[in-house]
Amino acid sequence: MIELTRTIKYEADRVKGFGREVMSVPGCEALQSCIQCGTCSGVCPLSIYMDFSPRQVMALTRADFKNEVLKSHTIWLCASCYACTTECPREIRITDIMYELKQRAMKEGIYPKKFPIPVLAQEFTKMAVKHGRVTENYLATIMFLKTNVFAALGMWKLGLKLILRGRFAFKLDSIKRRDELARMMGSVENVSIDTLSNPKTNGKTSHPTS
Ligand code: SF4
Ligand code: SF4
Repeated sequence: MIELTRTIKYEADRVKGFGREVMSVPGCEALQSCIQCGTCSGVCPLSIYMDFSPRQVMALTRADFKNEVLKSHTIWLCASCYACTTECPREIRITDIMYELKQRAMKEGIYPKKFPIPVLAQEFTKMAVKHGRVTENYLATIMFLKTNVFAALGMWKLGLKLILRGRFAFKLDSIKRRDELARMMGSVENVSIDTLSNPKTNGKTSHPTS
């Protein structure tokens, strides 16, 4: 038998103004008109794996439950397939709202820390901005070390095979003239390595991968 547990939300859990802030971002305004029909949850191919359904994320965001939304796994499990956005009867850009929430979670450093997807997004962006290229085995190693060291140890056979076949890079791949890239990223997206290293600072980050 499935045990149902209800989570009660209290007024004190709200962070007043959060919903309004999200809805002030271009592309997210229509959230105001959500009728909670649940179409987004119904069409989402990943909703069965999510802790909150897309409909719930929309409701929680609008109702100022910032911490619940930013700490949820849902925003990181969203695969940006746009099915919800296409089907929403109120033309709410749910996928873009998910991106906005991911950005805020990274900026404020309150995403689920041991969950690999936000860590991967963070490290991917950091590596791409700093080196202009992403070295996949380094990225995977950092992700495992930051989330689940034992899982990394369990991958030793794969690592060995990659080394034997010459597919394991021992050096980070980098473009030439990285300073120019840093300047370009800094002026275009206001991304700085400092910001990425310290998500609590106020700089913006680029869209994380999902
Ligand atoms: S489909 Fe649109 S209107 Fe319906 S619950 Fe989802 S966001 Fe709200
Ligand atoms: S864009 Fe994200 S939330 Fe929307 S249907 Fe696809 S996976 Fe689900």
